[in-house]
Parts: sequence; C-alpha cells; structure tokens
Amino acid sequence: MRSYTIIAPAKINLYLEIISDRPDGYHELAMILQSIALADEINLRSISSEKIQLNCNHPQVPTNESNLAYKAAALMARQFPEALTKYGGVEITINKHIPVAAGLAGGSTNAAAVLMGIDLLWGLGLTKSELEELGATLGSDVPFCVAGGTVIATGRGDQLSSLTGLDNIYIVLAKYRSLEVSTAWAYKTYRQEFSSSYLRETENLSARAAAVHSREIVKAILNKNSIEIAKKLHNDLERVVLPAYPQVLKLRELFATQEGVLGTMMSGSGPAVFALLESKQQAEAVKLKMRDAIPDEDLELFVSRTITHGIQVRSST
Ligand code: ATP
Repeated sequence: MRSYTIIAPAKINLYLEIISDRPDGYHELAMILQSIALADEINLRSISSEKIQLNCNHPQVPTNESNLAYKAAALMARQFPEALTKYGGVEITINKHIPVAAGLAGGSTNAAAVLMGIDLLWGLGLTKSELEELGATLGSDVPFCVAGGTVIATGRGDQLSSLTGLDNIYIVLAKYRSLEVSTAWAYKTYRQEFSSSYLRETENLSARAAAVHSREIVKAILNKNSIEIAKKLHNDLERVVLPAYPQVLKLRELFATQEGVLGTMMSGSGPAVFALLESKQQAEAVKLKMRDAIPDEDLELFVSRTITHGIQVRSST
C-alpha cells in the first residue's frame, strides 16, 4: 500500500482588514497571509476498505467527521468515487505541532494537505488551482494553505493574488495553551460593535478591497523591507479580542518592549500573537526573555520563520 507524508505549514496574518458583511454570512476581507515554517505532518496511507480513518496525537483535536482533514477526505471520496473503489480508502495520521484554535489555520492547512495527499495516492493529477477550488468549499483559508507563500487574499479570503515570497524573516509566536478564541465570536462581536462605520460605505466595497494592493505594507513586501513590513502590520480583529482577553493584550505589550522586535500583532482571530525579528539569534533571545517574564507553563513559545511555499510532500513509499 502506498503512503505519502505531507508537510502542512501554519500561517500568520500580516494584515487583516474587515471591509463589510456579506449576504452569505461571511465577511468581505482584505488580508495578507504568510506561510511560516511551523508545520504539522500528515501521513496518508491507502487502506483496503473504502473508509476514512483518522488519528491525531493532539487531545483537543477531534478524530471524527468534524475534523477538517476528515472533511477534505470525504470531499475527495464524493468527487472521485471511481478512484475510491479502485484504490480503497485512506488512513490519515496527523502529527500536530501547530497550536490549535490559535488563528494559525491549523485545521485548514491539514485539509489542504489531505487534498494533495489523496490526489497523489489516487493519481488524479489535479492542478494547484483545482485543489484550491476544492479547498474553497471546505473553508476560506484552505485555498491559501494550498498556495502558500505571501499572498493577498480578498473576498471571504479565498480570492488569492501571490506576492514575491518573504523568506527568513524570523518570528516568535506566543499562545496560551488553554486559551481559545472562537473565530465566529470574534467576527460577530466586530460586526456588532463596528459595522455601522462600514455599512454606510456599501457602494465602495470592491474599491476598498482592491485598495489593499496599493497599501504601504504591500510596497514593503515587494521591497522585502522587514522593518517597514513590521511597522505596517494591521489586524482589525485586535479591536475586539484585545479588550476581551487581557492575557493576549499583555503578550502584545510585552513583545513590543523586547529588544530587536520590529513589530508585533495578533494573528487572525487570535489568540496567538507574533513578533517579527531580523535574525534567529534575536528571536531565540526574545523567546527566553518572554519565558522569564511569564514563567507560566500554559504559555507556549515558538521560534519560526517566514517561508515561500504552502503544503509540500516530504516523503513517499
Ligand atoms: P483559522 O486561523 O483558520 O481561523 P485556527 O488556527 O483558529 O483556524 P484551528 O486550529 O483550525 O483554528 O482549530 C479550530 C477548531 O477546529 C478547533 O476547535 C479544533 O477542535 C477544530 N478542528 C477540526 N479539525 C482540526 C484539525 N485538523 N486541526 C486542528 N483543529 C481542528
């Protein structure tokens, strides 16, 4: 039986602007998404029965039909029933390194990896854009996780436009293990508190989304100028998450005072917070300082870096 191991990188948001509500219940967004080296490993193996079996080493992650990786496999089985009959089902084993419910797209990147792995197991030969299209039906962040690198995402986050990839900007990530922020809560609260300001501008929505392309942060990315990128980090959801979660605010404030930190921001709907740094050495030093300041074992700290790709095959047998 064949097997593939896929590397599924996490993402951070360098930029997140909420443009408006959408009739489908999602939000119109303008984001800049960035892949990072912190990644899960997903092993996919053909099995003789036409079933989907899922294993995961992380206690908070469900291994039933609610797992996004399971949903991705079920989607492939529905789309390609002849391949399922010919090659059999699939056993998926997720080795989690990405913090769960953190704003780092952990579930979405697992789903992207399963789409790619099943495409390979079943020899379907799907293109990246076909995988992105399938991914969009599973979740807004999945197409980005297929594409990876540095990407402007508009629409509900699924309309992608790639920028020159940013390599090797170092990152320290901080997340309280037991603290989760519901993405649905964050957007709902933002809508309740701030929608009156954008609802008045309905006619200019697409122009506002398109304006992200001429933002200074995009120029800084094109110039690979990490100092300018760090100055222009932005996330509208901080307006609701930081006041409601003082621990997250504290992480933001603490990062901002560390030597070498170019900029700091919450990722997605949080509660993970990241800081950008010029070198690995500086990042390791900041990680130690943060640990000294907050000795609480519940706080997870990671050193990572920006990368220029999304999901990738590590090995096959
Ligand atoms: P995003 O940044 O896309 O909003 P996130 O990083 O905030 O995502 P996830 O790690 O994807 O959040 O987890 C969100 C919820 O989804 C968790 O409560 C978790 O139980 C559930 N979940 C389902 N499938 C997975 C998976 N494969 N990996 C992690 N969590 C999963």
